Amino acid sequence: MSKLNFFSGPAVLPDSVMQQAADAIHNFDNTGLSILEISHRSKQFVKVMDEARALVKELMGLDANYEVLFLHGGALSQFHMVPMNLLNANETASYFDTGTWAHGALTEAKLFGNVHIACSSKDKNYTYIPREYNIATGNKYLHLTSNNTIYGTQINTPYLNQIIDTDTPIVCDMSSDIFSRQLNYNKFALIYAGAQKNAGAAGTTMVILNKDILGTAKRPIPKMLDYSRHIGADSMLNTPSVFAVYVSYLTLKWIKEQGVANLQAANQRKADKLYAAIDGSSLYKGTVEKDSRSQMNVCFLLNDETLNDKFNAYAEQHDVLGLKGHRSVGGFRASIYNAMPESGVDTLIEVMKEFERMA
Ligand SMILES: *Cc1c(COP(=O)(O)O)cnc(C)c1O
Repeated sequence: MSKLNFFSGPAVLPDSVMQQAADAIHNFDNTGLSILEISHRSKQFVKVMDEARALVKELMGLDANYEVLFLHGGALSQFHMVPMNLLNANETASYFDTGTWAHGALTEAKLFGNVHIACSSKDKNYTYIPREYNIATGNKYLHLTSNNTIYGTQINTPYLNQIIDTDTPIVCDMSSDIFSRQLNYNKFALIYAGAQKNAGAAGTTMVILNKDILGTAKRPIPKMLDYSRHIGADSMLNTPSVFAVYVSYLTLKWIKEQGVANLQAANQRKADKLYAAIDGSSLYKGTVEKDSRSQMNVCFLLNDETLNDKFNAYAEQHDVLGLKGHRSVGGFRASIYNAMPESGVDTLIEVMKEFERMA
């Protein structure tokens, strides 16, 4: 690809993944049929689903009691599926309120039970991850958003390791940083992530859960919203998003080839050099407290905001796309997920420096 894709999601995919996905549209696994027209019950696709689920477990080093599901409805549907399956009406769950998505998750949970806000950074427009939090007594689970895509904040690895070192079940929205770093994933009770940021194309959502947390819900749960039913059907309770699952499968194989440890090191280098360029410039400025900075979504403003449109046009002329910040924040955001090569970040920095010299 000649253009560099810094969009926040759907987002950049490895070239090799797109090539294989394109080939499978014409002839999937030598069936002479397209991946778009093949039965989800065909042995070729069942193999894709099984291998994709196994790859997630392998990449995360998960114990035998974990299950992996590829569901519909986006990460947003997990905002209600989680409390529907885990939180009874008289019970309390604690939530980190660290951004638009985190807030969305806790708002939905209130439909099902009591919500305790463990901490909030709303006071400063979500530009930091609070260092102090408290959990409700008799807490059912603690919900985190590991990376706040819109605001460019992330729970850094040492702090996240500290938070998950607890007996409280941890539920985590990892939509925008899944597979970006090594963690002790067995410390999480449930992880969910829309695939379209760091793990594939739009249309499927990964749910990774420890089976031990299920079975306490007292309410009736509609079939399609019941984790146990999805587990019992090997993630094929109805027709899955065949093509989206296939793209995730290809992406998971690519992640395995790269190695999560290597991707983590590259993500660190990419983020470090981009933040260093921002900090070293007199035109650009970061928006987030330093120890809360995301390695996936780098948000910045121009000191002279009258130059915003000019900067955006200049970047686009130089094949750097997708830098406009989320409409609720403004400014700029470079999303530098796993599949963004280091050379792409180097080009972005070059373009930013050239623009500053001209401005
Ligand atoms: C993008 C995003 C969502 C929303 O995901 P959908 O798949 O569009 O529902 C939720 N949480 C986080 C952290 C996100 O980045």
